[in-house]
Parts: sequence; structure tokens; C-alpha cells
Amino acid sequence: MDHDHPTTLEFLGATGTVTGSRYLVEHAGRRVLVDCGLYQGERGWRRRNWEPFPVSPASIDDVVLTHCHLDHCGYLPALVRDGFTGPVWMTEGTAVLTEIVLRDSAHLNERDAELARAGGWSRHDPPLPLYTSADVERSITHFRQVAFGPPVDLGGGVQVALHRAAHVLGSASVLVDAGGERVLFSGDLGRATHPVLRPRSAPPAARTVVIESTYGDRRHPAPPGRPHAALADAVRRTIARGGSVLVPAFAVDRTELVLEALSRLIRDGEIPLVPVYVDSPMALAALAAYRRPSLREEIRPEVPPDLADIPTLRAARTPEESMALNRPRVPCIIISSAGMATGGRVVHHLRHLLPDRDSTVVLTGYQAVGTRGRALRDGATEVKIHGRYVPVRAEIVSDEEFSVHADADGLVAWLADMPEPPETVYVTHGEQDASLALATRIRRELDVTAVVPRLGERVRLG
Ligand SMILES: [Zn+2]
Ligand SMILES: [Zn+2]
Repeated sequence: MDHDHPTTLEFLGATGTVTGSRYLVEHAGRRVLVDCGLYQGERGWRRRNWEPFPVSPASIDDVVLTHCHLDHCGYLPALVRDGFTGPVWMTEGTAVLTEIVLRDSAHLNERDAELARAGGWSRHDPPLPLYTSADVERSITHFRQVAFGPPVDLGGGVQVALHRAAHVLGSASVLVDAGGERVLFSGDLGRATHPVLRPRSAPPAARTVVIESTYGDRRHPAPPGRPHAALADAVRRTIARGGSVLVPAFAVDRTELVLEALSRLIRDGEIPLVPVYVDSPMALAALAAYRRPSLREEIRPEVPPDLADIPTLRAARTPEESMALNRPRVPCIIISSAGMATGGRVVHHLRHLLPDRDSTVVLTGYQAVGTRGRALRDGATEVKIHGRYVPVRAEIVSDEEFSVHADADGLVAWLADMPEPPETVYVTHGEQDASLALATRIRRELDVTAVVPRLGERVRLG
């Protein structure tokens, strides 16, 4: 251990919330940022996206991304714009999907700023996007692809290795070895039962671990006898009464899983064959990534090459085609993003379908506090859309089987799978109660020191 140059770990985000993942490892003057996420959800958190980055972006040598979700990669364009010049390391799957996700993020930011300018409801004057499409294109030129498994030497005594996390295509846990001090970041961990991705790999040994706790205080219900019974029953009921089914789903990953489930339900005669619309050019691009031959080794061998094999599958590519779905001529299923209904095309579908008693909204997976998705899941009788309140008369259903996060048992099992127990586990990426509950379980069941760090807290490793 080099006492003149202690290795440190600093928590720059994802404390007390599931969003804004950013961790800084510092060793002998070298700075490596693991994840560069955006804050999402409640306004108090989102406001942090507008604050200057807590350390100078120019002083960071490398960024490593665990996966493509915005809460892990979405701040990167701002970091590059504000002076970061180094490489951004990630797997091929993450690179392909992060490009899609960041381009969409810039587009939504630019469009929301435009709408706010027109509507006069912005707090900024004039309304500005957080970053632009040009910032995104510049950040993409910094991407460097890494294979799962073997370590990559970043220089300055720091190596990183990426291990399969089975959360979304390309997702990884990241092992940072800084001068012999090893710290393992779980990234977001998937479930052993992910319907499309091969199971995660066993975590490597490390003295320090940073683990997510999205479901740190929850256990997923046992899978029902019939897979996706909640979705299947909702579709049958809704179509029978002449309504339409709206499925808010992240374009990347969740839409692919919903399509895979629908294609199985149709094949098994569980739901009638009605038009299924994918209302997102971004989801169609992500679907192509899941079909990429070079990424096939991440997919379960039993999944057919076309995981969205639905004869009535249609794409709504243009905004006009999307608008037309607000007055469907026949009952149909519409899959549209964003998954927590915070933005994107799903918002205008909600405005039209929520007041309709015959229609149904099926929520798929985690809904963060402060999002419209969470409000709907919690039984809101009206939600605010584009400055107006819209009554909720449609049926609201949650299909928890779409969760791509390990539950508390799965998180503890991942730690227990390490070749030897770590010395200290830092529990992040959860709402406070979930993080505290997981820390308590880790202490009790694994006899390991478990801490819920505070924002900005810096700890010495080794
Ligand atoms: Zn994620
Ligand atoms: Zn996450």
C-alpha cells in the first residue's frame, strides 16, 4: 500500500436515490469516473443536473460506463462539453445502445426547451437544453469498446475489467484495480430469470464493493403459474371492451422484452392477435442491436433470432403516425417510451387514453418517486401533463415480471457469490429505505461492514 498516494473513492451521485450514478476512484493523481449518470425523477434531484460537476471534468482521466441507462451515462455529453478529454470505456452492447440513448436524450432536451419557450413555463430564461445533439456527437467520439473479462490497462497503475451483469444488453459490473487496491462496482444487476439475456457471471474478488439497492427492501413475487398473467389478463379484458392497451416502456431493453413476451403470449393463444405498434424509432434501433450477430453471445441460446416475431407488428416512425394512434380505429396495443412516463411520445398517448374508461395502461418495472409512472402506480386520480391536469379513468396495471433488477435476495446472493467476502460494502442506487434495508441484511447475513454513504462522501480504500 502506497501511503503517500492513498487510493480513494468518492460518491458523487446515486446516494439516497436510484439515479445520478457517478463514482470517482483516485489513485496517485489518476482519476477514473465510474458511470456518469443523469439525475431523474423529482425536481429537487433533476435540478442537480444543472449544477457544475463536483470535480473539474478536465481533471478526470478516464470514464467507465456500466451500461446504457441514462442514470448511468446521461451526463456524459455535459462532461465532455465542460472539458473531459479522455476515453470512455464500455462493452460493445453498451456502446451501441448508449449512442441511441444519448442521441434521444439530446433530442428530448432540445424539444422540451423549445416547448417551454413556446409555452412560457420554463424557469430558465430563455429555456435551454441541458446539452445539445452536437455535444452528444462529440462525446460518442470518446467511446472505446472493451470485451467482457480480461482487464484493460488504463495507465498510472489502474486497470479495469468488465463482468457480465445481465441487466440489459451490454451491462457490466466494473472491477477497478488501482495500485493493487480492488473495488468492484455492481452496476445494475439483473435477475437470474432474465428472459432474453444469459445469466450474469460470478463477481471477482475485491476488498471494497459498491452495490446497487433499487430493490434492496423488496422481494419479487414468485413467478405466477402463467408467465405475464397480469399483462395477458389486462390485454384480454381491454380488447373485449373495445379499449386499447398502452405500455409505457423504455425504448432500450424494456420494449424488446415486452415484444418478446407478447410474441410468446400470441403464439400460446393467451391473447388475441391485434395490431401491436412500436411507437418509437429508438426502440426499433435498439431491437436491431438485440438482433446483432456480434452480440448474440449475450442472448440466451433458446431465444429465437427474431425475438419480436409478431405478424401484426407495426412501426410508428413519424410524429404523425404516432399521433394517429391516439384515435385507434380498432383495439390495439401501443408500446411507447419513456418507461416511467416522464417524457417522450408516451406522454401524448397518456393524455388521450387516461380519461378513457375502456383503455388500460400497463406499467412495466420500476417507477421512480416523482415520475408520472409512480403516480399512476400509486393510484393518482389525475396527473399533470404539459401544464394541465388529466383525469385517470383508464385501468392501471403493473406487470412486475418485467423488472430487470435483482431483488434483495438476488443482491445478497451476488455478494455471497464472491470468491471471498469483501471487507466493506457501500450500498447506493436506492431510495433511502431500500439502501438501509439492504445494508442491514448484508451485515446480518454476510457479517460484512455495510455502509450507506452520503452524497460527496470520500473514503480511503485499503
Ligand atoms: Zn439500469
Ligand atoms: Zn440504474
